[in-house]
Amino acid sequence: MCGIVGYVGHEKAVDVLIGGLQRLEYRGYDSAGIAVLNQGGMHLARSVGKVRQLADLVYRDWDAQFIAAARVGIAHTRWATHGPPIERNAHPQVDGAGRIAMVHNGIIENYKALQQRLQAGGHVFKSDTDSEVLAHLIGEYYTDGNDLLRAVCAALGQVEGTYGIAVLACDQPDRLVVARRGSPIVLGLGHDETIVASDASAIVAHTDQVIYLNDDDVAVVGADGVEMRNIHNVPVSREVSRIDWDAKAAEKDGFDHFMLKEIFEQPEALRNTIRGRLDQRQATAIISGLALSPREMADIQRVVLMGCGTSLHAAMVGEYFFEDLADLPADVEQAAEFRYRNPIIQSRDLAIAISQSGETADTLAAVREAKHKGALVAGVCNVVGSTIARETGLGVYLHAGPEIGVASTKAFTSQLLVLFMMALKFGRCRRLSREVGLGLCDEIEKIPELVRKVIDHNDLIAEVAAAYSQAEDFFYIGRGYLYPAALEGALKLKEISYIHAEGYHAAELKHGPIALLQENVPVMALLCDVPGKEKTVGNVEECKARRAPVVAIVTEGDEAAAEYADHAIPVPRTSKYLAPLVSVVAMQIFAYHVARLRGCEIDQPRNLAKSVTVE
Ligand code: GLU
Repeated sequence: MCGIVGYVGHEKAVDVLIGGLQRLEYRGYDSAGIAVLNQGGMHLARSVGKVRQLADLVYRDWDAQFIAAARVGIAHTRWATHGPPIERNAHPQVDGAGRIAMVHNGIIENYKALQQRLQAGGHVFKSDTDSEVLAHLIGEYYTDGNDLLRAVCAALGQVEGTYGIAVLACDQPDRLVVARRGSPIVLGLGHDETIVASDASAIVAHTDQVIYLNDDDVAVVGADGVEMRNIHNVPVSREVSRIDWDAKAAEKDGFDHFMLKEIFEQPEALRNTIRGRLDQRQATAIISGLALSPREMADIQRVVLMGCGTSLHAAMVGEYFFEDLADLPADVEQAAEFRYRNPIIQSRDLAIAISQSGETADTLAAVREAKHKGALVAGVCNVVGSTIARETGLGVYLHAGPEIGVASTKAFTSQLLVLFMMALKFGRCRRLSREVGLGLCDEIEKIPELVRKVIDHNDLIAEVAAAYSQAEDFFYIGRGYLYPAALEGALKLKEISYIHAEGYHAAELKHGPIALLQENVPVMALLCDVPGKEKTVGNVEECKARRAPVVAIVTEGDEAAAEYADHAIPVPRTSKYLAPLVSVVAMQIFAYHVARLRGCEIDQPRNLAKSVTVE
């Protein structure tokens, strides 16, 4: 959720930390802060708003010599869970004596009880956060003759909840202590420097050698390396991984927004998702991360697809793929609900957890629950080395490249493609003929080009968007494969334009929501020329009879469908399987232009964070 950066090395810590925060700003951005050490003294600054405001404050108010000399520090962008985004709640939080500074991502669930205990012992708290309690607790254990690592371990032993933390002590100016449970922490191992961050995008400019902390890992971080322990202070060893993308992949590259760049790079991202994964000879997909024998694959009796937000919508399309292509019963689970409602899981079930970041807390909890109940669990993640990817062991990477825009675009289309390929692979181990398999391989190869054709209509979609940019409510309707697409289209619009948008099954509209239709409530109708179109046309007529303006996504050349709408956005002809993919790309572009016309902060919409690492 939030972004953590820590640095120990030979460069100016302030510059590295501010630069790192800027790269992590997409993770959460209601306030930010920094603490650095020099010659035994600590400087701390916090500010509400963007990292830019924090940077202005630091470079204006801090002594230039101090900035030039400081080599150790921690920094944070916050996505508030406890207490409003005001200065005193920003991180770093400090302990009672002002000797310890700490940045925290996550939630300390038992903070009230800990706080009362500490208050009884004389502690006075200055913020509304759960995090400050942990800072005080570490301070409490950090007595003379005690080391920082031991104090952190002792404090964490008392804590319930989730954390990724980086801790600094005034009298230990050559090190940081970091720890994780539930919230990601990555260590970047450079030459005479170590960078700590919530994700690799703050590290790639320095090194491609990283260690991903596991839950209950604690590390002492110095310029010349790291010492890995567990929470019981017992040494553990963790392997060093290589990041396979460079800093440039996480830059805007001339586009006004990351979101637009990511929409436009979808053909390339999809090509990368497909690369090396089609086997025309066997008419199937090669998914090496799904290391199951044909026998084991044929043995699976049900697929359970789990996700949140955009990934949940991908899961809903996946359900159709598995049932249609693999002949496998499939169910979709809202990941946050999964572990609380005692779901029935059987030993031949395959649970597929879908998460762009691979860190979504709710999805991770669902993974653990499904494993606990004996399911085989696979991950569909974009971020290599992420927790869900590691904990599932089985799985598929999207290879879509870093997605920085908070509203997911290229990850969604790559998720659909991966699920399509997985269903093809399962289908070929079951009832899908070689001939049909070959046809599907053919379709998969054409996807990047189909998406490029949608993007070619950018100007036209921008014109249509201008006609709807003043709307305050919007309905999106579709059926069949286009039903989850309608949900995703509506989600894009509300995320970035703040227009109240609802996605509905086209048939469901008349069971309630149609009461809201009037001439200033437009409807986006998904009318691609695939099964179900005629029925949706009927629903469009119902909308028009209530004077709702209609904008429709139609198959190129389908003039008859276009005529039902006030405005039509053409997408290339596809099978029903790929209709959601091309329609969603058109709706991403539509949402983008509406948001731009409304002057919204497209890459960092209010109240949202990119990777939701709290439950
Ligand atoms: N729970 C902490 C707070 O509200 C940390 C939030 C975050 O992860 O940014 O301050």
